[in-house]
Amino acid sequence: MIVKMSKQNPEVLAALEALVAPVGGEVRQLSFPFGTFLVALGLENPSLKKIQAMDGVLWARAAGSKPVLAALEQNPERTTVALGRMEVGGEALAVMAGPCSVEDRDQIFTAARFVAAFGATALRGGAYKPRTSPYAFQGLGQPGVELLREAADAANLPVVTEVMEPNDVATMAPFVDCFQIGARNMSNAPLLKAVGRAGKPVLLKRGPSATLAEFVLAAEYILLEGNAQVILCERGIRTYETATRNTLDLNAVPVLKGMTHLPVVVDPSHGTGRREAVIPMSRAAVAAGADGIVVEVHPDPSRARSDGDQSLHLPEFRRLMEDLKPVAEAVGRRLDIPETLPFAANQVPLIRRSAGWGGSR
Ligand code: PEP
Ligand code: MN
Repeated sequence: MIVKMSKQNPEVLAALEALVAPVGGEVRQLSFPFGTFLVALGLENPSLKKIQAMDGVLWARAAGSKPVLAALEQNPERTTVALGRMEVGGEALAVMAGPCSVEDRDQIFTAARFVAAFGATALRGGAYKPRTSPYAFQGLGQPGVELLREAADAANLPVVTEVMEPNDVATMAPFVDCFQIGARNMSNAPLLKAVGRAGKPVLLKRGPSATLAEFVLAAEYILLEGNAQVILCERGIRTYETATRNTLDLNAVPVLKGMTHLPVVVDPSHGTGRREAVIPMSRAAVAAGADGIVVEVHPDPSRARSDGDQSLHLPEFRRLMEDLKPVAEAVGRRLDIPETLPFAANQVPLIRRSAGWGGSR
């Protein structure tokens, strides 16, 4: 049972504790900007009547197979997530940019410096990589997380990076501003609970075969640990189409916005798998109402150790920002692009090697 409170009432807590005691359940007290809740876990068919009538109770619901904490219907106030100097879900768009993987010092420092100069609001990069093949580059692990932190600090950006194991959460936490849950782990309940308890923002990616209802329920796991700083990320789903790596489901943006109060961003890099589709689909995402984008950018995509084919060159990232700005303004949003660059235009690395490998997926 989930109870939304308008004020504290210890009698409601006591009543719920009495209900869960015989079944070995538990009561959680959760406090979010959009409300204060008492959640009684372990009750299958609770009778709501008595609780509903108590002082301070706004409503009581039997929690079942639908999200409640994450649901817009029950909590009509939109959530924004503080990340660095911005609020994701506010008027300004979030742009989380950087390479698929942290590879070495020079690569990540170069990426950080230039994406920051062009207006990115966070540095992304994976150190723990969920690769499709066990023979592919698996990431640098914890040293990669620390390198990412150093590069982000030098560029004055917050860090977004993937965590794959509950046990890594505590080790990574001091270096990370936002934990990414990768598409392959969207329904990994122990991992969702672990990042929920870490109390830091979470970028939750949609599983490639997850319905939107399943996606929001995965977010509900994180909220149930007392953490509502969750950003949902549409990153493409598996369909019969093979011309693109995934099919970027932009339906998800308006539909999720109707289902949940959480911010929604779009990853056009994994959503398409093709560099030339990234700018057009970023524009489409913003036009559809996304709160931002997650985009892969590499100083030399032809040499990337992962996802080179879908990574923008640095000058392309600059063009993306310039192209997005009028789209953002057309839909009543803002995209802040620094007016002056801290380097000459000819200093931006633009390396195209025709014989490039492009990095595996
Ligand atoms: C990534 O962001 O590099 C990544 C692995 O994404 P996804 O989990 O969406 O495949
Ligand atoms: Mn990637």
